[in-house]
Amino acid sequence: SPQLVWFRQDLRTVDQPALRAAAERGPTVGLYVLDDETPGKWKIGGAQRWWLHHSLEALAQDLEKLGSSLILRRGRSSLVVPAVAKELGASGIHATRHYEPWWREAECEHGDFAMLHDGDVLHEPDSIRSGAGAPFKIYGPFYRALETHMPPPEPLPAPKLDRPAKLPKSDKLADLDLLPTKPDWSGGFSDWEPGSRGAAKQLRHFVDHAGDYAGHRDLPAEDATSRLSPHLHHGELSPRQLLHALGGKGGEKFRRELAWRDFSRSVALSDPDVGEKSQRPLGLTTRHGKAADADFTAWTRGRTGYPLVDAGMRQLWESGWMHNRARLVTASFLCKHLLIDWWRGADWFWDCLVDADYANNSQNWQWVAGTGFDSQPFYRIMAPLGQSEKFAAADYVRRWVPELAKLSDADIHDPWGRGVAPADYPEPLIGHKEARERALEAFKKRTN
Ligand code: FAD
Repeated sequence: SPQLVWFRQDLRTVDQPALRAAAERGPTVGLYVLDDETPGKWKIGGAQRWWLHHSLEALAQDLEKLGSSLILRRGRSSLVVPAVAKELGASGIHATRHYEPWWREAECEHGDFAMLHDGDVLHEPDSIRSGAGAPFKIYGPFYRALETHMPPPEPLPAPKLDRPAKLPKSDKLADLDLLPTKPDWSGGFSDWEPGSRGAAKQLRHFVDHAGDYAGHRDLPAEDATSRLSPHLHHGELSPRQLLHALGGKGGEKFRRELAWRDFSRSVALSDPDVGEKSQRPLGLTTRHGKAADADFTAWTRGRTGYPLVDAGMRQLWESGWMHNRARLVTASFLCKHLLIDWWRGADWFWDCLVDADYANNSQNWQWVAGTGFDSQPFYRIMAPLGQSEKFAAADYVRRWVPELAKLSDADIHDPWGRGVAPADYPEPLIGHKEARERALEAFKKRTN
């Protein structure tokens, strides 16, 4: 009898255990529900909607090629999914296990209406526990435990599918209104190719130069990281496919980075509020009010007067992605130099990143802010001018902050300090020394 596969962040047909399990049981059709209700404030952000539109188009084509189709609907998943299953006369609903708290709640609320299959991570986080049986709060021991399960099993090929005789009605992709219109800000997104074919292309490109990963991954001017994060978030590529394709290239350094993704999921599983509440509140007096709001706006627009911070924030706005080194520096600048609450920055990232991911975004923001169980200490304050020099960011700044493009490698990291800032480049919101002192003073007076 017919089977339904409920797709969420697993928009692929290869290494897709939910799809395979369905195909083994009977004629199968896919369903995607655009659900802006269940996630509450975590509904899919602007940049990701653009990605999702193209990714759904690609998934529909992949399913057609295998002999099936993708049904599109909108509404509350826990109502829509069973309703479509009923229309189809399905005897089984299959889905991939995800770790966002809203999905887990929806699944609990409605019993086992869907059969959940593992497929989003290298290894299921609830089976990676300390000797005492508790989830790990610190990355190091988590990674060592995860390594004992490596390498992951071989990826599964895409199954052949039979289409059920009578299909439920589908909305049109355009009806989901995922693309920006007035204004269309997606011009700078054209380098991305959402969908499994785009993921495979990007993967091949990375495999060719993964040997440089360890030495160059921290340099924002270079194309040394995989840039697979949006494909991994949307599940167009599984982490198992990725590791198998690399066959050891990228080395332990790459595995360790990829394992942070599993760790973040483990954190979200044991602390579902990680995106809302500091895990270890520092009791800092953060800044609020008009001046803080103006600083926040300048940060979002990439007009802080700190070249590396501005380059990162403009890359985010224009391309929907930011290099990891720049994410660290921009996030630290907001929390420490500007003394603004980390969750305001995390919300901005949520709306602007094509790879916005509840677990990764929340856990990383808490790491930078010093509020996570595994965290950088608050009093360790990154120097954004020094970071720019140390990580050779001159060409990165030239690309994203055109008003500085003519400055020399020596001048570009600190144009105000060197007295060469062009008239159209903003003055620093606050001097580094003053900001550092203000942050340390706030830390000294903290209440926890
Ligand atoms: P690579 O270096 O090629 O790494 C491969 C993959 O490993 C990544 O695609 C990602 O899936 C995973 N990964 C690497 N580093 C991390 C990490 N620190 N934490 C979790 N997973 C990691 N990543 C997201 O996917 N979504 C987010 O919303 C997100 N928000 C972040 C916010 C802040 C403040 C910071 C500091 C980091 C954030 N990251 C986030 C983590 C990291 O910056 C990105 O995963 C990485 O830059 C993506 O580029 P890449 O695919 O080229 O990474």
